[in-house]
Amino acid sequence: MKSAILAFCLAVGLAGAATAQQAPAWSFAIHGGAGVIERDSLTPEQDAAYRAALHRALEAGSAVLAAGGSSLDAIQAAIALMEDDPLFNAGRGAVFTAAGRNELDAAVMDGSDLNAGAVAGLTTTRHPIAAARAVMEQSPHVMLIGEGADTFAESVGLEQVDPAFFFTERRWRGLESALRNQNLPIPSRPAGVPGSMADNTLTTPPLNERKFGTVGAVALDSQGRLAAGTSTGGMTAKRWGRVGDVPVIGAGTYASNRDGCAVSATGDGEYFIRATVARDICARIAAGSTSQTAAQAEVDDALSLGGSGGVIVMDAEGQPSFAMTTSGMYRGAVSSNQPARAAIYGDEELRP
Ligand code: ASP
Repeated sequence: MKSAILAFCLAVGLAGAATAQQAPAWSFAIHGGAGVIERDSLTPEQDAAYRAALHRALEAGSAVLAAGGSSLDAIQAAIALMEDDPLFNAGRGAVFTAAGRNELDAAVMDGSDLNAGAVAGLTTTRHPIAAARAVMEQSPHVMLIGEGADTFAESVGLEQVDPAFFFTERRWRGLESALRNQNLPIPSRPAGVPGSMADNTLTTPPLNERKFGTVGAVALDSQGRLAAGTSTGGMTAKRWGRVGDVPVIGAGTYASNRDGCAVSATGDGEYFIRATVARDICARIAAGSTSQTAAQAEVDDALSLGGSGGVIVMDAEGQPSFAMTTSGMYRGAVSSNQPARAAIYGDEELRP
């Protein structure tokens, strides 16, 4: 009897090991920005709200992929949801420029054919990720900026909103304190925004979170296509038409089936641009590095120049990797083999 039980346990154990080793049919990972995010910098309510938001985005992506949809559709669905969520620095809830505007950047890349689309400085397009995808699929170009980019987005039927749509009291307060620290004048509140709004977006941002909260996603679909997308409001109090790494293909966003990788980054964009982080991670993977080693080595190298941040990487086997130089990164993953799991703090494993 005992040996029968032992044999049964062994068989179950072996079957379990075989399943665990089998590459998933599809796989999906997201981030919601990296930064100084420590356990005592988030209230229990903020912690729970971020985890719930990550799970909603994972659910949106996995619903597409589980139904046989494309990695691009999964990325767009999850990022559009996070763009509408005031918790994140993308779409509604984006940080403000020094002039008191929201200028939004986004990019998407299809690893299967190395096609890419990017937008920078949008002010009226509700979903910058959809605009980036439209640039890729419906224009002969890779990157459009400013008013022209909004005009293009409108011309292909993408929803336009009053710029006040993106306003949150929380980010406005973040702008005021950043400008005060830099001895810069505080602009008047954007047109259409009431004099003072109750901050219903979890009040005080975590310490130093003013810079972060960019969102991104990487995916492998059941047809083996890798893709990456990223969307951001950039950096609080940015000036002079500053554009970060997010819409710079190869810096904050890159995907390549040839190399077997998809990457989305978050952090101090200037350093990600100078070190061509996303493209470099793919080159390291193509040269034989595991995705985890490639991701960590690249962020450590790149950010030795300065700044801080993190990346998410998907490899051709559907293995997600996360690497950061910060104390935290809002992140999560789900695949055909594993339920949705999320994490916030750097020392924390993903959990359901
Ligand atoms: N990388 C973004 C930028 O520099 C900001 C961020 O990820 O927090 O615009």
